[in-house]
This record gives sequence, C-alpha cells and structure tokens, in this order.
Amino acid sequence: MERSIRRLAPEIASRIAAGEVIERPLSALKEVLENALDAGARAIEIRVEGSLDRSFTVADDGVGIAPAELELALERHATSKLSEFDDLDRLATLGFRGEALPSIAAVSRLRIASRRRGAVAADVVVAEGGEVIERSQAPRAPGTTVEVSGLFYNTPARRKFMNTPAGELRSGVKLVECYGLAYPEVAFRFVVDTRTRLDWPAVTVAADSPEARLEQRRERALAIWGARHAQQLVAAWGERDGLTVEALLGLPEHARATREGQVFLVNRRWIQSPLLSHAVRQAYGNLLAAGRFPACTVWLEVPAARLDVNVHPTKREVRFAEDDAVRSLTAGACARPLASLQPPYAVADTRGAESPWPDRVFDRPSLGESAAGELELGLPTLVDRAPLSTPEGGVAVAAQIVAIPRPDRPATPAPVTEHVDPDAPELWQLHRTYILASVRGGLVIVDQHAAHERILYEEAHERMSGRVGLSQQLLFPTLVDLSQSQFDLVLELGPWLKQLGWDLSPLGPPTVVVRGVPAELTAHAPGQVLQDILDGVSEATGKTGDQDIAEHLARTYACHAAVRAGDVLSRAEMRWLIDRLFSTTLPHGDPHGRPTFVRLDLDELNRRFGRS
Ligand code: ADP
Ligand code: MG
Repeated sequence: MERSIRRLAPEIASRIAAGEVIERPLSALKEVLENALDAGARAIEIRVEGSLDRSFTVADDGVGIAPAELELALERHATSKLSEFDDLDRLATLGFRGEALPSIAAVSRLRIASRRRGAVAADVVVAEGGEVIERSQAPRAPGTTVEVSGLFYNTPARRKFMNTPAGELRSGVKLVECYGLAYPEVAFRFVVDTRTRLDWPAVTVAADSPEARLEQRRERALAIWGARHAQQLVAAWGERDGLTVEALLGLPEHARATREGQVFLVNRRWIQSPLLSHAVRQAYGNLLAAGRFPACTVWLEVPAARLDVNVHPTKREVRFAEDDAVRSLTAGACARPLASLQPPYAVADTRGAESPWPDRVFDRPSLGESAAGELELGLPTLVDRAPLSTPEGGVAVAAQIVAIPRPDRPATPAPVTEHVDPDAPELWQLHRTYILASVRGGLVIVDQHAAHERILYEEAHERMSGRVGLSQQLLFPTLVDLSQSQFDLVLELGPWLKQLGWDLSPLGPPTVVVRGVPAELTAHAPGQVLQDILDGVSEATGKTGDQDIAEHLARTYACHAAVRAGDVLSRAEMRWLIDRLFSTTLPHGDPHGRPTFVRLDLDELNRRFGRS
C-alpha cells in the first residue's frame, strides 16, 4: 500500500520519545528522584498512593526552580545542568539531557511545586499530557515537590506491558536502596499509602580516608539490611591513576544465583555493569562455585572526562574510556581482603563438588565401598557442613543442617548387583550429570537436573492449585536476613510458598524465620534457596513484566530445588527420577524448553557399527 510521509503531530512525537526515557513507572520515579539529588537535597520523601502508576510524589529540600523557569523545565532539551557540549566531560549531575520532565509530562498528569530560598511561597505548575493547564502559588518550605499521577493514561498500549503494581513498587524500593547507598548523607523516607516502608536518617560523611568512608557507608547499609547482615560485609578499596574504588562485599556463603544482590555506583550513578560484576566475581575466585554471584556494593569514581554516561536512554549503562584499568583495579582491590577470610569460607557452598546425598555406588569403582554405602539407605541423612564463623554461629550452623528424607526412598537397600531384579532397567550415572538407562530398542540419556526440574515444576503447579505440599520441619529454625524488596516479595508470595511446603514467618522486616521446607528439598542451606527463589522471581517479573507470578515461582522453585549436575545419585534415586519424569505431562522438556532426555535407538547403533 502506498502511503505518503507526514510529520507527526508534536504531542504524538513527544509521546513516542517519552517511551524511550520513561519505559515504565519505575523510570519516572528514577528520573524524579535523580532530579532531587541533583538539586542538592539533604532530605527526600517519596510517597506512593496505591501504586507508582496511580500516583507518587517526591519532595526535596533542594535548591528549587525559579518561577520563571517552571514551564521551561517541562520543555524538551531544557536543562540547567549542561550548556555546552564539552560540559558532558565535566558532568557531576545525574541528569543532563533535559528530557525527563517533558517525557513524564507527556504521559501523565504532572504537578510541580517549587520554592527557591529567597521566595515566600512555592510556584505551582500543572500539566496534563504535556499541556500546562494550571499555574498558581502554594505554601511550601524551600525545595521542590513533583507529583506524577495517572502514568500512561494516554498510552494504553504501554500499560499492557507493565509489571504488576506490586512488582513495580518492589523495584521502586530497590531503586531507593541503591540511591540510599550512593547518597548516605541524604535522609530518605518512603511511604506507601499510610505505611512507612523506609526511613533512613542522614549519615555524616566527613571522612577523607577510604576506610573511614566505608564505615560511614556501612551505617547506611545497616539501615537498609539490618545489623546482622551489614556487620559481616567485608570492606575493600583501591586507587590508581585517578580511579578510586571502594566496596562492601558479601561473604561467600551469602552469594546468590542472580545478580540481584549487586549494586554498582559509578560517580554516584546507579548503573548495570557486566564489566564490574565480572571483576568482582573474579576477586572471589574459587571461594564461590560456578553460577553464584556475590552480594556487593561498589562505589567507583572515574574522572568525568574518562566516562561516557550518554550511551543509554535511561542512563542505566555507562562506557569507560579504559575498561581494563577499571576491571583490574576493581578485581585487585576486592581480592585483597577476601584473601584473608578464614578457611571455612573456602569450603563453604562448593555445590557441584560435593553431593548432598550420601556418596554411594555406581560411579565408584570399589564394590566394598558401595556395599557399605547401601546400608545407609532408609536412614535419615544429615548433611553436616563446616560451621561458619558468623556472630550468631549457632543459627548459621543450624542453617547448614537439613534432613533429607526423600518421600520415595525405599525402606530396604536396593540390590547391590545389577542383575538381581531382571525387570529393572539398567541404570548408570555418567559424569554425575546424565543418567543412562537401557530401554526397549535402545538407550535413553537423561539430564538429571533438567528432568528433576520438570518433575518439580509440575509438582509446584499442582500444589499451588490446591494440593498442599508436604513440609519438612527443620530441626533448628533458620533466620534469613532479606532486603526490604525481598521481604516484600515474601509477603506477596506467602500463600503460594506455603502451598509449596515452606513454613515461614516474618520476624519483623527484613528477617524471616524458616521453620520448614518442602519435603523434597535437597539443598543444604534453605535460607539460600529461599533467597535464590525470591531473586529469580523478582528478576523474571522485572524483566518480562509478566503478571503470572505463580508461573515464575514454579519455575524458579524447580530450578533451585532440583538436583544439579555434579550431584551423585544412588540407583534408587535414578530410578525414581526416571519413573517420575515419564509420568509428567510433558517429559520431553524442562520448563525452559531444554530437552530432558535424548534417545539412541539400537537401529542407529547397529547402523553405525555396520551391523545392518
Ligand atoms: P535534566 O535533569 O536532564 O536537566 P529534567 O527534565 O529531569 O532534565 O529536569 C529539567 C530541569 O528542571 C533540570 O535541569 C533542573 O533545572 C530542573 N529541576 C527538575 N527537578 C528539580 C528539583 N527537584 N529541584 C530543582 N530543580 C529541578
Ligand atoms: Mg533529570
């Protein structure tokens, strides 16, 4: 079809441009918060009515906007922070493009009330869909209040792709946590409806040595995560060629399965950085198993001229002039204090190297050893691990001990030799990763992790839709310290977690007590599995904006509760896995669509060996 080219009407053009900067309610909050910080605020209060897209306000005590400039602030590319192109090389503010307020205004109802120090009252401007509809004055202390309501009211398509309101709010809490770490000298308060969710006093940051500075930042960390967690963080710092890095690092056993616990602040800007994440991971070396990400907060200062902040619409990424220098400085600085951690850490959580199940049979050559091992079958198994030297040693040790009665574990020892039961399929474990089973007409090779994931995934769905799962009470309840956003997620997921078999009770934010875990859970550290599940769910909902939180829970639960490659399986366990796999509704793939098994036909083998 032939169509002619036309210019878009300005309000449509600005709505399209707004989509780049304000992709979701969280980005509106981020921009408004960054403006308050740029204005030199000492105290910032965020209030949410209902949800971020319904209405939120950010009030600060910063420099304010001159009355004559209020309308200008709503115009595209109007900014007080940059006047020449070269200024980008000296940038010390979070904003610089003058795009945020006009973008927010284009897709919401925006009210700004601002008073400069010398003025007697605040000037107020209200805009709807980008048009100024009201101008007035109101009493207010010096500073600025920005109110955003009805976000995306005029862009219904965008609304559809949004995260759940609760999920978006959790991301909002996380955003404030990160800026709280970047600006400890600013007091923050976060109120949702009438509930005060966060209330952090300002921390005096006067110190000029990195060590003392980190101790002051630890004070803010303490307000965010609680004393138990913050006191264990390891301080690290380094300086080279005008770059400085300072970090608070989580202990190896608090490492997580996603990057959720990592905060990177470059020139006090909260960014995502695979480079920094990789550098920190490198510093932990073999203190961590593969696939684990340490918790960390990293403050990096880079001369503005050696940093490009203008590479991403929402400014969540930056580019360094010298990647290698940043990487090696960060890795080196973080590695130093980690190297002196006491030995127990070096063996903590070497998942994959060690089996959570007793080592028995089949990939061990010695018959005597396997026969002895078989006698343990049917007894409850206690997996005892090296105690950790946390201040609450008793609790931490308890966390590491979990009884693992598998519901299907046979009461009598399985036959030691292969041919006692002629009907049982022959089974072998290959490289602690695959199960080989001879079947009629050939051989199936099962991926043990993928298969278990499929089984647990279907079970999770069954449980969440009615059949409550068996819970196994822990000998010693475990305390788990969560971040505020994780804690909120526990409350949100509570009923489902319970149906899966978790027995949790909140012990005042941000700590929960784990009293029981799903009966089939094989992990050593239930608190860690819980955190992994929460991170997985929040990552999935944050990334996809998908509303189906039960589906994400089922998936991440299955992924984190399943046996792993590297776990040794007994013959009985292999049989159980295979029987259960083939009684699921979709045995061919795991929940992510990876195959669970492949089949090799005898015909194929015969052909390859030239038998036919
Ligand atoms: P940018 O932050 O990139 O300059 P914005 O659109 O976010 O662009 O804001 C436009 C201008 O409005 C800013 O440059 C600043 O002068 C002013 N402004 C916005 N919010 C505040 C605030 N809370 N306090 C003082 N000035 C503000
Ligand atoms: Mg801005």
